[in-house]
Amino acid sequence: MVAFTTRHIGAVGEDRTKLLEAVGYESLDALSAAAVPTTIALGAPLNLPPALDEAAAAAELAGFAAANRPRRAMIGLGYHGTVTPPVIRRNLLENPAWYTAYTPYQPEISQGRLEALLNFQTMITDLAGLPTAGASLLDEATAVAEAMALARRVTRKGSVFLVDAQVLPQTLAVVRTRALATGIDVVVVDGDLVEALQTHEAFAVVVQLPGADGGVRGTDELRAIAATAHDNNASVIAAADLLALTMLTAPGEWGADIAVGTTQRFGVPLFYGGPHAAYMAVREGLERQLPGRLVGLSKDADGTPALRLALQTREQHIRRDRATSNICTAQVLLAVAASMYAVYHGPRGLRAIAEGVHDKARRLAAALSATTELAGTSFFDTLTVTVPGRAAQVVADAAEAGVQLRLVDADRVGVSVGEDATEADLAAVAQAFGASAPGEQRLGDLAGHDRGVDYLTHPVFNSRHSETEMLRYLRTLADRDFALDRGMIPLGSCTMKLNPTTSMEAISLPGFANLHPFAPASDAQGYLAMIERLCSALAEITGYDRVSVQPNAGSQGEFAGLMAIRSYHLANGDDQRTVCLIPASAHGTNAASAVMAGMKVVVVKTADDGSVDLADLRAKVAANADTLAAIMVTYPSTHGVYEDTIGELCALVHDAGGQVYVDGANLNALLGLAQPGKFGSDVSHLNLHKTFAIPHGGGGPGVGPVAVRAHLAPYLPSHPLLDEAGPATSYGPVSAAPFGSAGVLPISYAFIAMLGADGLRESGQAAVLAANYVAKRLGEHYPILYTGAHDLVAHECIVDLRPLTKATGVTVDDVAKRLIDYGFHAPTMSFPVAGTLMIEPTESESKAELDRFCDAMIAIRAEADAVAAGQWPADDNPLHNAPHTQARVVADDWNHPYPRSLAAYPGGLRLGSVGTGATDKYWPASARIDGVYGDRNLVCSCPPVSSYAE
Ligand SMILES: *Cc1c(COP(=O)(O)O)cnc(C)c1O
Repeated sequence: MVAFTTRHIGAVGEDRTKLLEAVGYESLDALSAAAVPTTIALGAPLNLPPALDEAAAAAELAGFAAANRPRRAMIGLGYHGTVTPPVIRRNLLENPAWYTAYTPYQPEISQGRLEALLNFQTMITDLAGLPTAGASLLDEATAVAEAMALARRVTRKGSVFLVDAQVLPQTLAVVRTRALATGIDVVVVDGDLVEALQTHEAFAVVVQLPGADGGVRGTDELRAIAATAHDNNASVIAAADLLALTMLTAPGEWGADIAVGTTQRFGVPLFYGGPHAAYMAVREGLERQLPGRLVGLSKDADGTPALRLALQTREQHIRRDRATSNICTAQVLLAVAASMYAVYHGPRGLRAIAEGVHDKARRLAAALSATTELAGTSFFDTLTVTVPGRAAQVVADAAEAGVQLRLVDADRVGVSVGEDATEADLAAVAQAFGASAPGEQRLGDLAGHDRGVDYLTHPVFNSRHSETEMLRYLRTLADRDFALDRGMIPLGSCTMKLNPTTSMEAISLPGFANLHPFAPASDAQGYLAMIERLCSALAEITGYDRVSVQPNAGSQGEFAGLMAIRSYHLANGDDQRTVCLIPASAHGTNAASAVMAGMKVVVVKTADDGSVDLADLRAKVAANADTLAAIMVTYPSTHGVYEDTIGELCALVHDAGGQVYVDGANLNALLGLAQPGKFGSDVSHLNLHKTFAIPHGGGGPGVGPVAVRAHLAPYLPSHPLLDEAGPATSYGPVSAAPFGSAGVLPISYAFIAMLGADGLRESGQAAVLAANYVAKRLGEHYPILYTGAHDLVAHECIVDLRPLTKATGVTVDDVAKRLIDYGFHAPTMSFPVAGTLMIEPTESESKAELDRFCDAMIAIRAEADAVAAGQWPADDNPLHNAPHTQARVVADDWNHPYPRSLAAYPGGLRLGSVGTGATDKYWPASARIDGVYGDRNLVCSCPPVSSYAE
């Protein structure tokens, strides 16, 4: 079999030689030796197992999957059996047109997933009965923590957060972690919430629906809680099961200000805990406080309705340490899947699924009540059954019969009915309790909740219920978007590389897909073994001692790492060490995470050459010597350069008693070349969805492992429901599930296994070669902003457009949008320097694709010069009018001073191979979108169809 390395790396053989020649080096080793500072360069090869070919890697993953025992999961606690419609699994979750897309920051080429996300938001607002919902959060537990932070920002009163004792245990633990650093006092109320609201100066209260034991509070009680909370100037958060909401009174209806929860049971596999999309909906007046991304309606340059991300000034990439949260990568692919489940089933189909689940639970309750005691009779899908002294035996007997139940304690067992539960499962459960199989008797109700089907009335949820219609809808939306399956996405800092099919296939194996995160360790042996080997490989690659894969995005890894630093200082009695130094060029998540970890951000200047200004660093270290907690630096820097001062920087901070956090999102430039854990850093997060080939999903999932040196290992995240998840000395969990988004870890496992030590190094080197090739070719037409030793860049380069803008009036926006006409996704715009483009080609692009991109950029430069020369007016030229939609180009009147062919086919016709005249032209779905208009006229759910007709 051909080595995977030659499939993964785009330019090999002669093409690689040509790239090397252009850059002026003999070999990859010669290039990396010149680029990577000798003070940090890795001496010996990484100690990893020999590379596997694709078949062997697939077999190894199949072995891990087979070592898991996903029985029928009836454990509950926020994770439920569900049936993923095959049309959605195959054409969405397993379809690279969906999973290889980037976050929709370039909305003109993202209308498909933006529409799907608008559907998601509409689904959530309808079911929650609240007017605005975001486009997904990371999991239910962090969503509750985000809601807590939101409530505190708006209430500005007291520090007490009241938590219903029925909140899911992992949610409580994550909330406690978040509360630790920000001085919030978490008070758990096992009793009357109304009374608790009257006795505590609380800023908010959270109630769980249904509660962890399955009980559903009545509508009157919920109204009383909300009224009392509002009388006391406290916010009300409902953590609600989405399927239950099809039958329960909507939270907005009884007075909740915020509703949060998971959307997993809308057709998304259990995945041993994730990835799953969480949701958040808020009442009117709180929309500007939402964490994470929000999709809104706007219009394009032709006045046509178009979607784009709204109110971005809330977000970390703009607001930094004053952002509403640190969330960047969220859970777009999973949110899209859940929304499609609602589109496919429609309101009546969802209601029927919920009624089916509820009815099974009621029949089971009737059967069990004959021999056992139930905790209550108001429930949706979950029962807590008291069997004094026999709980472990019941759980074991059920497992023997193929069903996993929840062991609450020695006397109680939890049973939760999912969409996938069969009559045989119900009979097996009854038998484990010593009861006879459920019959026609029913017991229990919904505590007076009496909701009509008053949701999802929009046509989109009422017109795609056949598989044919669903298939075509998925295809139609996917075709509007530009993903890696069409061409290069050269986004600097985002590392959009190949997501190998071999590694993707494994995640659909039932052994990986269908395991409940709180299944006993004995049923998860395959996952535990795979995760342990992945963590040690990541430790070897980074030079750290221990790794936790629990954080489910880079932002969460940052928070976890900073919490480790905080814990370390506290353990040393250095309570006053709370200052976090962050260079001006840092990613926005860094500053936002520091604030969440209770730190104060002090910005360090950038020197003229783009490196951290060491003189300023010295001054800031001296000024904060006693209070210095940490520095957070990105390496290679966000300017795409290997700074040779990194060792000095680490020493300076260490000498002052601070810890060094290296943001490892740019690890692609270090693979097999240098190890942050060895060159002076104490902790890093990695982005498996960048460097280690997990697809970006159009904005998530992500995995942000945190890697530490030994002295910080006692402070890696842990989990209340699984001892194996982390050290007992930890501050607690940062994610709902013990291993975060475990379901996508096989992707990175396979990636590392198939490359091996040599392949990883070759990948890193090839990424550096590609970036330097692009810098070399473009450098003749645009200034390259920063370079390091020998005029080399690392894995990305910044093209400075400011001189061009000054000379010609052509903006960075114009260039980015014109690239769409040439068939490209734009590079990263205006980060980390305004008015620039940051290009990261990655190792996976071929020489042909690199050249196609460079040719486009060079042609655009010529177009800009033509504008400057007066050939076209400044406000009517191919750049200003880009991107050109098909509707524009075929319109009967064309009155621009350049031809249609130049508008649509600026690179010339790329003919289809059979020569029929077909071309591989990508047409953007919208002309340039007006973001400001949309922010002024905020619409974040599906607009009535009539509004499109206007
Ligand atoms: C992508 C990135 C992050 C954030 O990672 P997410 O997974 O999006 O939260 C942090 N720092 C840098 C430098 C990045 O490029």
